[in-house]
Amino acid sequence: MSDRGLLIVLSGPSGAGKGTICSNLRAEMPNLVYSVSMTTREPRVGEVEGKNYFFRSKDEFESLLAVDSFLEYAKVYDNYYGTPKQHVMDLLDDGKSVLLEIDIQGAMQVKERFSDAVFIYIVPPSLTELSARLHNRGTDAKEVIDKRLSLACSELALAHRYDYIVVNDDLQEASLKVASILRAEECKIRRN
Ligand code: 5GP
Repeated sequence: MSDRGLLIVLSGPSGAGKGTICSNLRAEMPNLVYSVSMTTREPRVGEVEGKNYFFRSKDEFESLLAVDSFLEYAKVYDNYYGTPKQHVMDLLDDGKSVLLEIDIQGAMQVKERFSDAVFIYIVPPSLTELSARLHNRGTDAKEVIDKRLSLACSELALAHRYDYIVVNDDLQEASLKVASILRAEECKIRRN
């Protein structure tokens, strides 16, 4: 237990259901703050600036990178993604728990800097199921889906670096599991 908020990192392949699990968590744990990332990728239909992401040009992103504005960042599928640093640090100092939904490269950067952070990896029940979800979602072209599937295969091999692995074969159940992990972590005695 400490006065400082808990930093939670949630990762998993595209199509594993992270987005829905995050929404369910926010509904169930209103004190949890979701960190809005910055990205250079184009907005998808229905995505809202400042809610899903801060959409920025590559030049803008690189200028912010040069002045150390990110807690972590990564290049994923040819685009930059990063967590704006100051906002997250202020929230943690203020005792708020903060949820980062980021890829494994970013998660490993956070691991180096925050030994207390909690790392959760969401996996789909199988790669066949992941492929079906990405196709059914209808948000990405076939080449993009292929890239995402190939990245998922290499990422899955590194899932053991996380503290928890949650298989998402049922969204409700998976969301409950993640909420239970967070409740337990909030009660944990931290000795350092
Ligand atoms: P998408 O384009 O589908 O929204 O996200 C692609 C990948 O980028 C996902 O694995 C997502 O978790 C990751 N991502 C989103 N925001 C960030 C971030 O701020 N930092 C890092 N490292 N990855 C992120």
